[in-house]
Amino acid sequence: MMDCIFCKIIKKEIPSQIVFEDDEILAFKDINPMAPVHILLIPKKHISDITEISSDDAELIGRIHVTAVKIAKDLGIDQDGFRLVNNCKKHGGQEVFHLHFHLIGGRKLGAFAG
Ligand code: AMP
Ligand code: ZN
Repeated sequence: MMDCIFCKIIKKEIPSQIVFEDDEILAFKDINPMAPVHILLIPKKHISDITEISSDDAELIGRIHVTAVKIAKDLGIDQDGFRLVNNCKKHGGQEVFHLHFHLIGGRKLGAFAG
């Protein structure tokens, strides 16, 4: 999608610090990290938010989770644990409307804010 910042990151029109890439998935460092590890995992196809997924996307969404665990292991945060978060739309605090999952860890996180 033309004006989507994450689509531009996928096309390398905007720089990012990529930690994982394959045909379907990109993972890169969040520009404004809230913890020592803060990675965003996105599908390469533009999906605006999690409500837009269909059963056809089940494998892709599963692979994003498997990839998040791989990255967590690579970065050595799997033993202490981490948080994998998706913000959806206005009430969920979504700011970028290209589906993404935050992998956050490297310190003890506070109670999940309501
Ligand atoms: P959300 O509130 O769930 O939509 O989160 C959007 C996230 O994207 C925020 O944590 C931002 O810091 C992050 N972000 C925005 N622009 C960029 C960028 N150019 N590169 C990396 N992360 C970004
Ligand atoms: Zn996009």
